[in-house]
Amino acid sequence: VKSIAVLTSGGDSQGMNAAVRAVVRSALYHGLEVYGVQRGYQGLLNNDLRQMDLRSVGDIIQRGGTILQTARCKEFLTPEGQQKGAEVLRERGIDGLVVIGGDGSYQGANKLCKLGIKTMGLPGTIDNDIPFTDYTIGFDTSVSIVVDAINKLRDTMTSHERSSVVEVMGRHCGDIALYAGLASGAETIIVPEVPFDLDQVANRMKENFSSGKRHSIIVVAEGAASGEDIGKGITERCGMEPRVTVLGHIQRGGTPTHNDRILASQLGDFAVRKLMEGDSGKGCGIIRGELVVTDIDKVVNTKKPFNMDLYNLALRLSQ
Ligand code: ATP
Repeated sequence: VKSIAVLTSGGDSQGMNAAVRAVVRSALYHGLEVYGVQRGYQGLLNNDLRQMDLRSVGDIIQRGGTILQTARCKEFLTPEGQQKGAEVLRERGIDGLVVIGGDGSYQGANKLCKLGIKTMGLPGTIDNDIPFTDYTIGFDTSVSIVVDAINKLRDTMTSHERSSVVEVMGRHCGDIALYAGLASGAETIIVPEVPFDLDQVANRMKENFSSGKRHSIIVVAEGAASGEDIGKGITERCGMEPRVTVLGHIQRGGTPTHNDRILASQLGDFAVRKLMEGDSGKGCGIIRGELVVTDIDKVVNTKKPFNMDLYNLALRLSQ
């Protein structure tokens, strides 16, 4: 491998810039040429690539979003689109590609791998829904944002002795709700991985208030239910009227935490080194502090296991 490219694809996440910086600087350190692809696979098909140097990734480690921008690209879903993408890279003499994104972006990388381009996937998503890595790039920042929001809600809820329902992101994965819920002492955490009973949730809230509790926070993952439905359901069952807050896209913005920056730096450098070793069609991750690669086929066909120990801990501590 003499020349590589890097792109960000799918939903953006905090730490993507730190990952781009790590890929570029590590490639240059190892004497490779490196190109940035603008707007994910769409930019690849449009031949929208620029050569990156050390300074092109200066002053971005602390920024949310992605300087390469991101996009979803329908054309790349077709075999013709994928062929075209591989040709664009070949014509420029690029033989390796680092794709930073989620599940769909990984599948695109796998297609290019089968067309002879060496590819590595980096898990860039706030959702933490990619298996074979303990954490994805952006998850830690997102959880911090939710915890901070809940702290603020708690102040005002306690003053008014009110309950609050907070809807958080995560798509089909409950990790943001679980981690943020545990870290902020939420009374109830509703996630898609565990069936829930709204009668029980409402009863518990009512009992807790009658036994002197002055606030109550329910965190609900968007993949399990909407905050609005949970709020309405509680009102119907016990007459209490929780305030519903949908945190939305603020969970995807802002400066990345040091954990996300370090994870992105480690994984970006690791992906470059793996490409140099001739590895391809792999997703990079970190498991118990150790950097690992896993076949993309396996990554995209495995559901990330849910951490029931943490969930049960949250339950035990939220009496
Ligand atoms: P997020 O989880 O944040 O949404 P993602 O990477 O899963 O990120 P997608 O929209 O699923 O986001 O995928 C991003 C892009 O990857 C798509 O627009 C498409 O160009 C490409 N892609 C997705 N699935 C495939 C596939 N099966 N084969 C080839 N390319 C794909």
